[in-house]
Amino acid sequence: MAQVRKQLVIYDFDWSMADQDTDRWIFEVNDIALRRRMKDNPDNMQWTDLVAQCCEKLHAAGGTREDIENALRVMPFHPAMIRAIKKLKSDSVPNTTLLCLSNANQVFIDTILEHRGLRDAFDEIITNPATWRSDGLLQVRRRIDPSGRQHSCQVGCSPNMCKGEELEAYLNRKGSDGFYDRMVYVGDGKNDFCPILRLREQDVVLARVGRGLEERIKEEGAASGLKARVIYWGGAWEVEELFPKLGQAEGREWLADDM
Ligand SMILES: [Mg+2]
Ligand SMILES: [Zn+2]
Repeated sequence: MAQVRKQLVIYDFDWSMADQDTDRWIFEVNDIALRRRMKDNPDNMQWTDLVAQCCEKLHAAGGTREDIENALRVMPFHPAMIRAIKKLKSDSVPNTTLLCLSNANQVFIDTILEHRGLRDAFDEIITNPATWRSDGLLQVRRRIDPSGRQHSCQVGCSPNMCKGEELEAYLNRKGSDGFYDRMVYVGDGKNDFCPILRLREQDVVLARVGRGLEERIKEEGAASGLKARVIYWGGAWEVEELFPKLGQAEGREWLADDM
């Protein structure tokens, strides 16, 4: 394998970079009736719209901006993942660009990354827009506005965003700077399957075991033409351990048990 001089590391956020799911967590911490609503989804709403609706209900019941920010700051985030990201950023070989590609929202991710001292490590955060209204309501919107042109994904991404199209658009925006010797995708969910189909043979998927991405890789990976090498991991410490070893693991699928 030729030396990897330049790499792009793409991080999903919930249950990949962070050890929890922001959308559910803030309601688990602040209002379990709303957490129940997120689980039961009685009006059968699109997920991002449901988060927005529950934020409105939390605000109406007296929940404050501080309540949400405090919940985000105590959300589980493994020290090994913080170390891994800081090391990627400080090493000069390979030179690493970090991208966060997430179905959470800008406020959740910014708040946590700033708290963890990681915000500057990321070149871009591609996610759903969110802003604080002056009275403390968190307003969350879909990245793809429901009233405009919709994405054309056939792989099963949610209407709010196609992660595969977003990854391609990012690489196109970078122009000739967007050529990386290697791309590494750290993900766990069903909606991480679409972007990993855009990866090449020299690229790597670090897929968390026991979640939707593993299931889709095993059921649909071969038939969908997945080219990238897949390495499974369970805990963040394994991701920290894996990054410096990626160059040595050519041409086979590793399981977390091999570590
Ligand atoms: Mg996830
Ligand atoms: Zn898609």
